[in-house]
Amino acid sequence: MSVCIDSSLPPFGYDLPLLAKACSSSASCCDLREKEQSVMDILVLGCGVMGLSCGIRMLEAGHKVKIWARDLPPNTTSNVAAAVWFPYKAYPQDLVNHWGLITFQEFVKLADDPETGVVMLTGKEIFEQPVGDPEWRTQLPNYRRASAEDLPEGYVDGYIYDVPVIETPRYMFYLLERFKRLGGTVEVRELKSLDEALAESKLVVNCTGLGSRELLGDKALYPIRGQIVRVVGPKLDAFYLDDYGHRGLAYIIPRQDGIILGGTADEGAEELVIDQATAEAIIERCTLIEPRLKGAQVAEHKIGLRPGRASVRLEAEAQPNGALVIHNYGHGGAGVTLSWGCAEAVMALLPSA
Ligand SMILES: Cc1cc2nc3c(=O)[nH]c(=O)nc-3n(C[C@H](O)[C@H](O)[C@H](O)COP(=O)(O)OP(=O)(O)OC[C@H]3O[C@@H](n4cnc5c(N)ncnc54)[C@H](O)[C@@H]3O)c2cc1C
Repeated sequence: MSVCIDSSLPPFGYDLPLLAKACSSSASCCDLREKEQSVMDILVLGCGVMGLSCGIRMLEAGHKVKIWARDLPPNTTSNVAAAVWFPYKAYPQDLVNHWGLITFQEFVKLADDPETGVVMLTGKEIFEQPVGDPEWRTQLPNYRRASAEDLPEGYVDGYIYDVPVIETPRYMFYLLERFKRLGGTVEVRELKSLDEALAESKLVVNCTGLGSRELLGDKALYPIRGQIVRVVGPKLDAFYLDDYGHRGLAYIIPRQDGIILGGTADEGAEELVIDQATAEAIIERCTLIEPRLKGAQVAEHKIGLRPGRASVRLEAEAQPNGALVIHNYGHGGAGVTLSWGCAEAVMALLPSA
């Protein structure tokens, strides 16, 4: 893996205001303002959160960008994401922390614009057993340990902090419109091989998510199936996450379009069929955490395949004909969480003039 890491950037354990300063300073090696570049024609494969975030950054740097994708929003996995900023099932941890923090800062800014569907929300991560001090969560805004009255019945410990919540249907629409407004073009096109892209462009950015399994024959990619339910119910002002409970994964994410109840993370499963029993079990688990959900109306069921991989693939691969492919896929359950950080890392891999 080859990525651009700026050693002057603080690790995850730093204060976020400090990080904000570091990320916006011109000292970052990921900052293309430092890099001499001519205008390039770039073909991006994929129109999920990764393809669009990368495409936007490239257009903002003055390049010409077109996207080819089999599916466009609202029909991407990114549209299914719940989505809360949380590094989940994505690796390696140090890079995930780095990309995640850059993305966090970007979401803080986007939360100022209601069009984006991004808001900052208080979250409660809850546990049935006592837990130690969390490694990185203490650096999130308004972090504190939960007291007994903060916890639902059956839970004995928890962390409370503020994080970005992203209403993905609205956010993906916002990204697509922003990409087009900047002059990017989009074509629906399914590729059977990377050669089709290389016949079109000497510079290809591959953001095809789980699709890279077939496109490149990458056997390291595997699906992690997730099912969620959107309900319309009470107005909640915090999200809950129980990742370790004996009943299974449970999360409750209030959004403007309803409340997302999750979830599942079935590694290796890829049948995209909503399972009614699973949906009922999700609702039951969530209602035990938040009893006000009792009687909430089911508005929608959703299912998607997270692109699981032991390690995100973010690297440049030179081609025999002199072309360059930059791969950016395999972000597991954290593609939204890592999107802007990975887009910066991709930018740093673009060839210089
Ligand atoms: C239920 C659920 C909940 C989730 N919750 C969260 C969350 O809370 N926070 C978070 O950060 N993440 C969450 N995720 C994970 C997140 O959705 C993924 O990590 C993210 O969507 C990956 O983005 P991507 O752009 O790489 O892939 P995708 O969104 O899958 O986009 C891939 C693009 O590539 C295209 N493509 C693929 N193959 C080809 C081909 N051969 N030719 C042309 N185009 C092709 C597709 O059509 C699509 O346009 C969740 C996922 C699920 C399923």
